[in-house]
Amino acid sequence: MTMYSHGSNFDKEQFQRELRQVLKSQLAVIEKNATTKDWYLALGRVLSQYTSMNLLDTEAFIDGEKTRKINYLSLEFLIGRLTGNNLINLGLYEKIEEALQEMDLALSDILEEERDPALGNGGLGRLAACFMDSLASQALPAVGYGLHYEYGLFKQSFAAGRQVESPDTWREALGYPWERRRPELTQTVGFWGHVEQYSDDRGKLRKRWVPGLKVEGIAWDLPVVGYQNEITLPLRLWECHTGDPFDLARFNEGDFVGAQYPVLEASNITKVLYPNDNHEQGKTLRLMQQYFHCACSVGDILRRHLALGRELKTLPKLETIQLNDTHPVIAIPELMRLLIDDHDLSWDEAWDICTRTFAYTNHTLLPEALETWSEGLIAHLLPRHMEIIFDINHELMVKVQQQWPGDIGKMSKLSIIQEGDHRQVRMANLAVVTSYAVNGVAALHSDLVKRDLFPEFDKLYPRKLTNVTNGVTPRRWIKACNPALSSIITEKLGDGWIRELSEIEGLKAFADDKEFQQAFMTVKKANKQKLADWVEEHHGITLNTDAIFDVQIKRLHEYKRQHLNLLHILSLYHRLLNEPEFDIHPRVFIFAAKAAPGYAIAKDIIYAINRVAETVNNDQRLNDKLKVIFLPDYRVSLAELIIPAADISEQISTAGKEASGTGNMKLAMNGALTIGTMDGANVEIREEVGDDNIFIFGLKVDEVKALQARGYDSFIYYDSDPQLKACLNMLQDDTFTPERPGELISVARNLLDYGDPYLVLADFSAYCDAQCAVDKSYRDQSSWAKKAILNTALTSKFSSDRSIQDYANNIWRLSSVR
Ligand SMILES: *Cc1c(COP(=O)(O)O)cnc(C)c1O
Repeated sequence: MTMYSHGSNFDKEQFQRELRQVLKSQLAVIEKNATTKDWYLALGRVLSQYTSMNLLDTEAFIDGEKTRKINYLSLEFLIGRLTGNNLINLGLYEKIEEALQEMDLALSDILEEERDPALGNGGLGRLAACFMDSLASQALPAVGYGLHYEYGLFKQSFAAGRQVESPDTWREALGYPWERRRPELTQTVGFWGHVEQYSDDRGKLRKRWVPGLKVEGIAWDLPVVGYQNEITLPLRLWECHTGDPFDLARFNEGDFVGAQYPVLEASNITKVLYPNDNHEQGKTLRLMQQYFHCACSVGDILRRHLALGRELKTLPKLETIQLNDTHPVIAIPELMRLLIDDHDLSWDEAWDICTRTFAYTNHTLLPEALETWSEGLIAHLLPRHMEIIFDINHELMVKVQQQWPGDIGKMSKLSIIQEGDHRQVRMANLAVVTSYAVNGVAALHSDLVKRDLFPEFDKLYPRKLTNVTNGVTPRRWIKACNPALSSIITEKLGDGWIRELSEIEGLKAFADDKEFQQAFMTVKKANKQKLADWVEEHHGITLNTDAIFDVQIKRLHEYKRQHLNLLHILSLYHRLLNEPEFDIHPRVFIFAAKAAPGYAIAKDIIYAINRVAETVNNDQRLNDKLKVIFLPDYRVSLAELIIPAADISEQISTAGKEASGTGNMKLAMNGALTIGTMDGANVEIREEVGDDNIFIFGLKVDEVKALQARGYDSFIYYDSDPQLKACLNMLQDDTFTPERPGELISVARNLLDYGDPYLVLADFSAYCDAQCAVDKSYRDQSSWAKKAILNTALTSKFSSDRSIQDYANNIWRLSSVR
């Protein structure tokens, strides 16, 4: 398409000239004074000129297509660093590496200068980023819509073992080189105010919303580069600008401070990403973020559609809007409002369009994560939207009455409005009622959505509820983060697996091949060494690379049960010190996790792990058998360093709580064996790799339910298991906190006095047995190598390319657009 779009027409001298030019003219730096950071910025700017052109060409190409376009709406896109990945996808990595080498510059050093844009919390945001990569790589017409937060997820450090948060300034002083401002796409967004009735020129009674305040949405595009296919899709992020600094009406009434207040609030709309994962707080500013995001995105979708001279009634045929969780669900009444109030469609016409345009992805069953908003708040902030929600609900209640005549219980359960002293709007109900498809994110999770969360909706709308198992992009999570593994795969199979991961199954044939086993384990060892060197350099802790690298990296959450992992570590520590016969293969336990700043017990668990690490790592009696390290500031680039080095992947959530997990997929693809419960996508990983190549333990969903129904009492386990008792006692005495005995007691209390809500103690003994099996298994290196190879060979199902194909075939109903 353009001269830059593919590696094959790369002009090295021209690139070197451009790089020097940008350094001097845009960054005002002379070459001999340039730091690695300066070179990173210059490189990013040069490359982003290439991708900007590809992006505009792709946009023009997409506009010309008569196929359906996908609009992926998400409050989070956890994209990670772009430079290295874009180089790979542009097909320019080696060429640029060589061009830089001639200038005495090391590409790998330059890439380390990029700060991860952390515009997401965890799995949900990372999924959106993997999906954009897969959409672009499969040449599907799509736009990702998100928010341009000034501050992404906080940076984490530890002070004396406790989490400290600091702001994430991902754009730094000189800006982020990959983003492009698109002033011509600016949207206007209203808040507050009132609804007016009026007669239009034909005498028809109509409504219009008169907002009390208007703000502007400025678009920034980040390039999503398809894998060597000349396609670049926009990830469009909206930034809020408040124009007029005063509410003039109130100002004139003498309310000087009050006049600024709404503007002050509005000017913070895209200031910061809310740091909660699987937990909603119900803050007004958060709802303002959500509406701002939706108004800008829906406005942009309609603008594109109408600019091409298309009729509104063809919207569902040409555009689909995928809602990533309920965070963007306010887009539904927004589209209704625009169609009815601005474009004069009837309710039925507008409803028909909406119910064929939206699809919704459910990400969780956890009650604290299911969004509800106070009716009063919505009515105040978005009065017209609240009216529309009531009207949608009215139609729903009529339908429920037809299905279950006289059943008040069904009405109150399914109603979008939750009754009570403070009425709440249930965003998931609004999403299910309106969407043409609703999907869970793993087979087990989708079954539970049907069976436990929305059984009545499943009856009311047969076939609407479905499954699309999550996936991760093999470009970032194998090719880019594990080049050594990629080389030995490509040596055996060619490089087709990067585009079509199912080809990696060819490795199965080499699982028993001693030479390949050796090569595979050599790669693993080198990756462990790389991680160990990094840990030594940054944290001064020496890791033995002969040890099993046992990894639990994910958000800190009780349901993910980092404290179960901790209890097992305590049991190893206790037994190594107290049982002369007890021995283990050396093990390094690696944690990385951020806790939401307001999540007290999660922060206490981090503190406990850090204190245990300090004691264990310095206990000479252990002979280096046990090391525990908690790496601060978990983020995509840290995941990319840890995952290739992992032998064991900890996926130990309480069954029924983890919707899917995607960390489990990344780790398995890189040859780590999973120790896990029958939860989320673990179930499907087991199906793919087989029982011999995974360590499954613990209560299953129905057993969890049954136990809780019987009345779970964690003290029974404490009293009957001396091993467990010893571990919990260590948390309550001075073993790890000699200066302050009992400092870790909150973790023990949570598991005992507070009832152990996630059944940690119930699964403890089965978990220890599974860990024992891991230890035994690792001692046979050849058999371990085989298992690791089979994990890489048999997890191609978890490519996000396959997820996107499932969406395209079963939900979006796209014809293949290769
Ligand atoms: C993959 C990923 C996650 C999700 O991990 P889970 O184990 O599935 O919860 C979270 N954060 C980052 C940075 C990731 O790369």
